[in-house]
Amino acid sequence: MEKQETRGYKLEDIIGSPLMISSDKNTRIYGLNVKGRAVDISAYSESETRKGYFHKVEVEYLPSSMYLISGSCTCESFRYYGMPCKHMLKVRNVYIKNKDKLNKE
Ligand SMILES: [Zn+2]
Repeated sequence: MEKQETRGYKLEDIIGSPLMISSDKNTRIYGLNVKGRAVDISAYSESETRKGYFHKVEVEYLPSSMYLISGSCTCESFRYYGMPCKHMLKVRNVYIKNKDKLNKE
């Protein structure tokens, strides 16, 4: 399990079907939970250095302010710095771009 966290997840390790796949195919949203003004997004975003491996990304986001309230990612950058990484921002941006489509579900 530790090994998988480090290297990332292969698509066949990911359970369920995505609600949305980004146009460049490297970010996949699996879960969406609106709670009040905030939205929780569960997603996987592909590693840029290890193609075929995805990081698990959780983002809590406040649409009215563009602000990331909290979140996590399994990538090295987030685990080392504890700051929002490019995957978390990517997931937020994919959500923003596809918000109307996603919220129609
Ligand atoms: Zn990351």
